[in-house]
Amino acid sequence: MNILVINTGSSSIKYQLFNMDSETALVTGLAEKLGEESSILTHTPAEGGKGKFKVEKDRIADHAQGLSRIVELLIDREYGVIQDKSEIAAVGHRVVHGGEDFQSSTIIDEAVIRAVKDNIPLAPLHNPPNLKGIEVARKIFPDAPQVAVFDTAFHQTLPPKAYLYAVPHGLYWKNRIRRYGFHGTSHAYVSHEAAEFMGKKPEDVNLITIHLGNGASMAAVREGRSVDTSMGLTPLEGLVMGTRSGDIDPALPFFLAKNLNMSLDDIDRLLNKESGVKGLCGMNDMREVEDSAMAGDKKAGTALDVYAYRIKKYIGAYYAALGRVDALVFTAGIGENSPLIRGMCCEGLEELGIELDKGKNEERSKANRDISTADSRVKILVIPTNEEKRIARETKRILMSRT
Ligand code: ADP
Repeated sequence: MNILVINTGSSSIKYQLFNMDSETALVTGLAEKLGEESSILTHTPAEGGKGKFKVEKDRIADHAQGLSRIVELLIDREYGVIQDKSEIAAVGHRVVHGGEDFQSSTIIDEAVIRAVKDNIPLAPLHNPPNLKGIEVARKIFPDAPQVAVFDTAFHQTLPPKAYLYAVPHGLYWKNRIRRYGFHGTSHAYVSHEAAEFMGKKPEDVNLITIHLGNGASMAAVREGRSVDTSMGLTPLEGLVMGTRSGDIDPALPFFLAKNLNMSLDDIDRLLNKESGVKGLCGMNDMREVEDSAMAGDKKAGTALDVYAYRIKKYIGAYYAALGRVDALVFTAGIGENSPLIRGMCCEGLEELGIELDKGKNEERSKANRDISTADSRVKILVIPTNEEKRIARETKRILMSRT
């Protein structure tokens, strides 16, 4: 069974075609700069796959043209990996915000589309392009079921004590203001993989999952269900990120408006695009920050301290929330690749039963692995995330449950 996974942004379409009998990606690709003069389509067959690598730099007017071109490449004699689009059994879509309407992935029908539209105020930058992707895929694949996999769904199991802000209650029931959390597809994927890696079922383990990419978030996962997470109503809350501040004193925006005459748009830009690690040291690529800190740049060193200290505080908080923790799970670009950050986050936590094996932490690998000492009561795992594979798995699960 082949499943096409698409993740549609405002001017881009990321895609992967999976053979779900072997759970392997046949091809990965990205159409970007849609609508611009020189759009770029990069089509990369899996290693050892039959198609060839291709980069095109022709104008692609919009998402409809982009997806049509992607399908042409998928079935192309030279670059393709299938003969005909009828070999695609279903399309899985990443949808950022499902609000409180979706606790799980779902087959897309008119009611689902209406609900995703209703949630646009909660994700004004993401849900509209996700809907566009759904609309064009339904036209191009009229016979293939379409499945929506929501970034927020995994966190719908948070209890009210974790998702409510202590603000007047009407803001929740009238205006749906609460903590939702994001990166759910990644937290769900690594939780599942971590349990399997430990030879257990997801419902038998308690985990703290730590997703450190450009955006960053953590989740407390009890017996396979998310019970707390660090992002909130928007992805701004929680950890220090590449360019986002994460947690701040909520009075900071008033201070900036009153004393520095900043507008709401200025403050939005400041906290989302000019803060975080970039705000602290001027760089947001973690490799660059680490190299500069090593070379003696004090601001970069301090940025790393602030970054890792916030994660450590959340580890403590989620340890307390869960009571028993079986493993910390590091994932995404920084979590998978930075021994320095992992080491800083775990430093001094031995009394909590968290003991890092320094040698294993330094080893480079793309595999799921355990980097804790043999005696560590809490395992420390590195599990590369794969949100597309999770979307393909969910799409297959939903298809199978219908037959
Ligand atoms: P996104 O959230 O956009 O998917 P990624 O998960 O790819 O991002 O993570 C990007 C981050 O990972 C960047 O800050 C990058 O510098 C960092 N990163 C990638 N490789 C390394 C490495 N070897 N050491 C430190 N940081 C790394």
